[in-house]
Amino acid sequence: MNLHEYQGKEILASFGVGVQRGIVAGTPEEAVEAAKRLTEETGTGWHVIKAQVHAGGRGKGGGVKLAKNLDEVKSIASDIIGMNLITPQTSAEGKKVHQVLVAEDVYYPGDSETSEFYISVLLNRASGRNMIMYSTEGGMDIEAVAEHTPHLIFTEEIDPSVGLMPFQARKIAFNLGLSGQAFKGMTKFVASLYKAYVESDSSLFEINPVLKTSDDKILAVDAKVVLDDNALYRRPAYAEMRDTREENPVEVEAKEVGLNYVDLDGNVGCMVNGAGLAMATMDLIKMAGGEPANFLDVGGTADAKRVEQAFRLILKDENVQAILINIFGGIVRCDRVAQGVVDAYTNMGDEIKVPIIVRLQGTNAVEAKEILDQSGLAVHSAVQFQEAADKVKEVLAS
Ligand code: GDP
Ligand code: MN
Repeated sequence: MNLHEYQGKEILASFGVGVQRGIVAGTPEEAVEAAKRLTEETGTGWHVIKAQVHAGGRGKGGGVKLAKNLDEVKSIASDIIGMNLITPQTSAEGKKVHQVLVAEDVYYPGDSETSEFYISVLLNRASGRNMIMYSTEGGMDIEAVAEHTPHLIFTEEIDPSVGLMPFQARKIAFNLGLSGQAFKGMTKFVASLYKAYVESDSSLFEINPVLKTSDDKILAVDAKVVLDDNALYRRPAYAEMRDTREENPVEVEAKEVGLNYVDLDGNVGCMVNGAGLAMATMDLIKMAGGEPANFLDVGGTADAKRVEQAFRLILKDENVQAILINIFGGIVRCDRVAQGVVDAYTNMGDEIKVPIIVRLQGTNAVEAKEILDQSGLAVHSAVQFQEAADKVKEVLAS
């Protein structure tokens, strides 16, 4: 689950990580109030107004602006709230901004003594260990650094049996070229950042930039946080941070009915039981010349109700030109699934306008094929994987 910057910073601050302070606002008036309060608390006269959407690159898209007085806070906030923010990380339509973060300006005016770093914590899947990635080249273009000058990005792996060792935090501060107070501040920053990552059950904490201010404070200016969905049950306070407005509406609906659905760009919808078979089915669709429109694991109970829910989800996607149902009947019997498909199809009538290919294999597969073939519905049945692929090819060509 993705978080907004302001939520990520809340978590960071609760673990003692230094952050650029801010207050979230949903209207220009709230933004002005927020700016006044921040001035009282921090003494800042200038504020940055930052669009809160689940996408990076906001600075490049005009979603981060500096306000030098309260009038500017108000006018910038009213420009940004409600705008469709297009950044290198959003789709071409962009993302609607509902809230802004009004933050203290930490790049004190006319100051050249600041440095921007990049620091992230994530899981290295190859080694199965957490690692800290960092670079002196923080700011807005870390992707370009990774592409053109990858030697400027360092990594530090953490041994899970002992956790982050103090020498590792010092090594990071040293490699970032810091000394004195800033060096000490950075070792503390890294240690608390790592603690925040582990204890919030996150899969990513990406702080870009981490700022060294001219008075040698180390602050998180941005925060991209991804929480592990599988651990949310034990972090109810974080689970409440979910902002479904930022998520794909079909995926939100799928989650509500307990289906595992991921929206993709292709033209062949798929309905499969088991994640492994779903992956194999997506390969099959590609090999047949199509592109999967989604990943959908209906799980163990492929009865009529579930099949119907799955149909409805898949058909919300206008790009779908065919649907491939690929079910392996182990505990769930194929004939019951076939009956489920027929019932759902009959129930939905002319809502289904695309051809459907059904491959059922396993317990009672023969009976299942009979049910489908005798149903009189426009359903193509297949027994073999290859047969299903050929039928997909056939219907896409016609
Ligand atoms: P992103 O573009 O979505 O990654 O958003 P960031 O939070 O990283 O902000 C983008 C850029 O805005 C940063 O790289 C900074 O250069 C700039 N910025 C952020 N906070 C301040 C601030 O307090 N003062 C000034 N002058 N610039 C800031
Ligand atoms: Mn950033």
